[in-house]
Amino acid sequence: MKKNGNLIVISGPSGVGKSTLVKRAMAELPDLRFSVSCTTRAPREGEVDGKSYYFLDDAEFTRRLDNGEFLEHAGVFKHRYGTLKSEVLNRITRGEEVLLDIDVQGAKQIRAAAESDPVIRNAAVFIIIAPPALKTLEERLISRNSETPEQLKLRVDAARNELKNFRIYDYMVINDDLETAANELINIFKAIRMRTANIQEELFQ
Ligand code: 5GP
Repeated sequence: MKKNGNLIVISGPSGVGKSTLVKRAMAELPDLRFSVSCTTRAPREGEVDGKSYYFLDDAEFTRRLDNGEFLEHAGVFKHRYGTLKSEVLNRITRGEEVLLDIDVQGAKQIRAAAESDPVIRNAAVFIIIAPPALKTLEERLISRNSETPEQLKLRVDAARNELKNFRIYDYMVINDDLETAANELINIFKAIRMRTANIQEELFQ
């Protein structure tokens, strides 16, 4: 049976364990394609250009923006991030499943794009990963020991703002126990494949 593609948007505050959960899910579901974003931030250790991100300088980011190459873009912690249309649109039209790890500002832009674009509307599903409580997130960030107190406050404030917007998402996974959360996320991905929006209209005609 021929299926339409899925555009899975996944957000979650820094320190919530989103990357670990996404890695688990991608190992389990090899057909998921990760949309590689552009960013102006510097690569961290182990990150590979073109795989983790496309690392661009500010001028190149602006050039691509002016050229209309981004599906969405946002400033996060003083850096610019954006999803390239070329990472997403052809793939979902071909029936592939694309995963976007983007922040809440980006998720809102995809929601807005879905209003006017039926391909995005049919494909888009929104998931947020949340901590059991803000306090838990703060404790996790403190134990990671990679932030100054000022950066920590910035991240907790950003987390609060992101989580306040939870209703723009369709699903929430609470990462209390990693195994449980990973299974829940995988189950959501599996259920997404069974949405009626995925079925091409001419079926049964
Ligand atoms: P990091 O710098 O830690 O990789 O990511 C910081 C934040 O930027 C994360 O919340 C991540 O989801 C978000 N982010 C990564 N790529 C994009 C993107 O293309 N667009 C938007 N809006 N946010 C992104």
